[in-house]
Amino acid sequence: HAKHLGGNGFQFYSAQLPTRSTDRLHLENDLRKALTDDQLQVHYQPKLHLASNSINSAEALVRWQHPTRGMLLPGEFIAIAEETGLILPLGEKVLRRACIQASQWLHTGSLAVRVAVNLSVQQLRQPHFAALVADILTDTGLPSHLLELELTESMLLEHSDSVADNLAALRQLGVELAVDDFGTGYSSLAYLKRFPIRCLKIDRAFICELDEQPGDTAIVRAIIAMAHSMHMSVVAEGVEQESQLAFLRSQGCDEVQGYLISKPLPTDAFTRLLQQQQSQADTPSQPSETLS
Ligand code: C2E
Ligand code: MG
Ligand code: MG
Ligand code: MG
Repeated sequence: HAKHLGGNGFQFYSAQLPTRSTDRLHLENDLRKALTDDQLQVHYQPKLHLASNSINSAEALVRWQHPTRGMLLPGEFIAIAEETGLILPLGEKVLRRACIQASQWLHTGSLAVRVAVNLSVQQLRQPHFAALVADILTDTGLPSHLLELELTESMLLEHSDSVADNLAALRQLGVELAVDDFGTGYSSLAYLKRFPIRCLKIDRAFICELDEQPGDTAIVRAIIAMAHSMHMSVVAEGVEQESQLAFLRSQGCDEVQGYLISKPLPTDAFTRLLQQQQSQADTPSQPSETLS
């Protein structure tokens, strides 16, 4: 964009801010168009269940196939979506898409995969959010226990009736609730008693330094012990090394997610992964194959 400013280098700094906000405006308009033109995609990152060594669930992660900028990651547009309110139609689209997909895996492929969808707090603040989820489940024919919603600690600390009511109603529906990026937010754990949380996802920050930081080993161990004593399961995110996997396995972590298992995959590739796993399980002569 600097070239639009002419050759005068002195204009550069004064022009930077307006240029940036113009960029944001472009991106906002582009995002509006993306929603109507169906440019958003959902990729799926498997979670490996350690006890059964199988993939029973996946996290849905939004991607934007931008017409000129190429594939954009959530870090490049979720903040703008939240500032502009576009997160509501975006979030609903991702949720619906993920439920359609999981229903298709179940009903046409006989593959029972729980799909986990990330929520923004604005979605949970809508008084009728739980009713919307119920409608989506009915429309798509997905059993509620195959939908999981990933929340962050800050969302659970909101003193808002609509958030609390939605969470109770979602749990009543049979939808699973998970706390994402666990350990990075707040020191108060009281919300774990207040809300019907099924699962904690240990943040990548604790996993990536497991080899070097003895403190992180202790934290991960403590989170797993606490979760199990409260009848919650634990997912470790951002697992990239065999040594991390071995440690998590030794500590009884329930599921792992990360590049070591698989990057987030487009639908077709994830479907093939599931089919491959199923055909291995269906072969009786073979000893059960390991995926990792
Ligand atoms: P998250 O929910 O914590 O998702 C995990 C992120 O870590 C994903 O990034 C994933 O690609 C990345 N990741 C997974 N395994 C590894 C690993 O082994 N190493 C490293 N370095 N990274 C790994 P992604 O897809 O860019 O998403 C970033 C964040 O954007 C997500 O963090 C989530 O908070 C948000 N997000 C994604 N999709 C949605 C959505 O549909 N709605 C909302 N509200 N937020 C979303
Ligand atoms: Mg997540
Ligand atoms: Mg996470
Ligand atoms: Mg994260």
